[in-house]
Amino acid sequence: MYALVAEPTERILGRPLPELIDAAGELQQELFAQARRIRQQHQMDQVRLRGVIEISNYCQKNCNYCAMRATNQNLDRYRLSAAEILEIAAEIHRLGIGTLFLQAGQDPECNAILETVIPEAKRHFGLQILLCLGEYDRATYHRWRALGADSYILKFETSEPERYRQIAYTPLTRRLQCIRWLQEAGFQVGTGNIVGLPGQTLDTLVRDILLTQEIQPNFASSSPFIPNENTPFSQLESGSVRRTLNMMAIFRILLPQALVPTVSALEKLETGGQLAGLNAGANVITINFTPPQCRSKYVIYSEGRFVVSLDHARTIINQAGMTVQPVAI
Ligand code: SF4
Repeated sequence: MYALVAEPTERILGRPLPELIDAAGELQQELFAQARRIRQQHQMDQVRLRGVIEISNYCQKNCNYCAMRATNQNLDRYRLSAAEILEIAAEIHRLGIGTLFLQAGQDPECNAILETVIPEAKRHFGLQILLCLGEYDRATYHRWRALGADSYILKFETSEPERYRQIAYTPLTRRLQCIRWLQEAGFQVGTGNIVGLPGQTLDTLVRDILLTQEIQPNFASSSPFIPNENTPFSQLESGSVRRTLNMMAIFRILLPQALVPTVSALEKLETGGQLAGLNAGANVITINFTPPQCRSKYVIYSEGRFVVSLDHARTIINQAGMTVQPVAI
């Protein structure tokens, strides 16, 4: 199991991590420039596109920041069928996007659907299959891997066990155990944190970085907290875009081979936020393919979310002076 306490000895540009997490102005630009240098040195300069389908907004958990929480009665719930998902997967393939990203709340009813979708999407379209479906037992992860799934995202959200329990009502150790099982099953694993959770300090964020380093994920992600309607956290302030970008740059520098996404929540909080993510060292953009009538019901960070289109992705990739990674045939 991962150690939750480690000593923050890491320095970048000769500066301690807390100073870099909070960097602004010239220091922040130096940090971003270093992240871009590292990205280039490790041939990670082409942007990977993922096509996400949010297949169900049912969820058994009750995270305080998320309106898909089980006790939210004000949400119209949906679950897509295997046929609906495969029809969209065909479109993702036709557009030359190599990764099918299937995301849902903690919804075990999806399991039967996945028995069809994972092998069919693999067989017919040769897509990489990325899952983000929550916490399951070891056997379930092995089953999805055997069906052909390649990678899995399970963010730890915060490295502080008490804070995690207060926010998600389940133990952080369980989540970390799941990450370990995913790695054992042979998945490429993504993890990361949320910036701006209540009570979070610079020290918390340093420990988030240390935990991420210890996990050694294939993808490392940082997202800003956004207050979400119909949740206990609806009245809180948003997380800092500046600190989120700094966390992404630090992930890029400390985990040079990792994929680092620039998430839609950055664009929701600040126009140009996702482009800033590319300039801070990111190299992944997720395009949304959830059916339009369902998108507004997948309220993972807020209503009125920013929905990333292929045109938007292409525009900011050009603006960042980057290119799209061609899909391997
Ligand atoms: S964050 Fe995920 S697990 Fe938590 S309530 Fe929302 S959908 Fe469910």
